[in-house]
Amino acid sequence: MPAIPLKVTRPPASDAADPVPDAAKPLFRGTGDTDYVCGNCGAVIALGMGPTQRVPFGSAVCSACGAENEFPSSLAS
Ligand SMILES: [Zn+2]
Repeated sequence: MPAIPLKVTRPPASDAADPVPDAAKPLFRGTGDTDYVCGNCGAVIALGMGPTQRVPFGSAVCSACGAENEFPSSLAS
């Protein structure tokens, strides 16, 4: 599975807890084989996206580290 790091648009607060990628749940789940991961900590944000699938938002806050990640225009609807 390819894993594509997203672009971080806002880093997590400095007093945030240490990232725990294993504890994070993907915010979005597709039916393909490309994972989009947090550009800060590597937690999966969109799991298994297919080539024609889109996410209904332009950015998302990582549930593991709190960084705001921007989806590429090819993925955001
Ligand atoms: Zn993160």
